[in-house]
Amino acid sequence: MLDLIRSCHENKASAAAIDKVLSLPGTELVIAQQNISRRVTTQQYREVLWAACEGKIPDVKPADTSARAEKGVVGLMQDVGPSLIWAREHVDLLEAQLKELRSDESIGDAIPLARRYLPDQVPPNRVPLAPKLFVVIGGRAGAAAIEDELYFDVLITAWRASNGASHPVSPAEVVEFFAHETHHLGYGQILDKKRASSNLTPAEDQAWDFLASLMMEGSATLLINGHERLADLEKQPDVAAYLQKTPELLPAMEKILRRALTGPMSGEDYDQATSPFLNMGYHATGAVLLATIQKKRGLAGVMEVMADPRRLLSVQRVRLRIDRRIQVRARAGGADSPPRKIPSQVTPTASQRAPGAIISVLTALHAN
Ligand SMILES: [Zn+2]
Repeated sequence: MLDLIRSCHENKASAAAIDKVLSLPGTELVIAQQNISRRVTTQQYREVLWAACEGKIPDVKPADTSARAEKGVVGLMQDVGPSLIWAREHVDLLEAQLKELRSDESIGDAIPLARRYLPDQVPPNRVPLAPKLFVVIGGRAGAAAIEDELYFDVLITAWRASNGASHPVSPAEVVEFFAHETHHLGYGQILDKKRASSNLTPAEDQAWDFLASLMMEGSATLLINGHERLADLEKQPDVAAYLQKTPELLPAMEKILRRALTGPMSGEDYDQATSPFLNMGYHATGAVLLATIQKKRGLAGVMEVMADPRRLLSVQRVRLRIDRRIQVRARAGGADSPPRKIPSQVTPTASQRAPGAIISVLTALHAN
């Protein structure tokens, strides 16, 4: 990719050189990352790369009518394209940074740091962690995990630092980037196992998706990038901007959970409802939730909720059950049919009561 950017700078780029870059594992990774919560095709990426090579941003059309495809185009035109154009003038800087990172031995610290913050890591429950680490150029995310392949993107990070969107990244922060993504890898396995053994209904499955994203990003962000402190995250401009939005994001979260559990919503409605959480919305909201739990119940409490994110739901669920029973009672109350016996009260179990306190704290928190 760096060779291609250099040839763009010298106006010598060819279609064959672009094809070669598109077939590289690093390019496949950055396109795959953009398809996690957005939709971007290789053809769209090629268009952006070609145009950026000539110093232009093309007018890319969304791949379909979904919110994901729309977000995909925004990412290509506002992040990927402009950063690639900037790269043409900063080839030497990028080359020096690539060289420095590839020779940095402390990158290996990422794996133990990630493992420290995974729940239930006593054998035999210890999940395997053997990520493949890449340093790439040309993506939208600063770092990402695609299955067991993790990358740090030198260009997007340097470009965001150059325009003030984030601060320059130190080698220690690169270790944290890799630890954050390694954490996703381990936590993803833990969540998948829990989900598979939980017999979820389609409605619960949708709520799980949303909670898993919040817990996944929130835990890695608070515990690794924030060193267990919200105050540290407030100093990091990319997260700080979203921390300021949490007074709106927290009620939006409760609404999504309610709609999912009484639904599920259609895929498109779900994408629409969760779109404010893209970028750093999941990270900031999840970090605030977990910091609230940590304040009340320490790191052990955080690990407990991470081990089963439904612990955040219990109060909502009890409320829903009560709502449903009231509806059933209203329907069954006609003169021809005897009223069904309905318990007058739903008593939460012990495991449901504790998270209830969490939700109350959260409600109080965003009421302030
Ligand atoms: Zn993440």
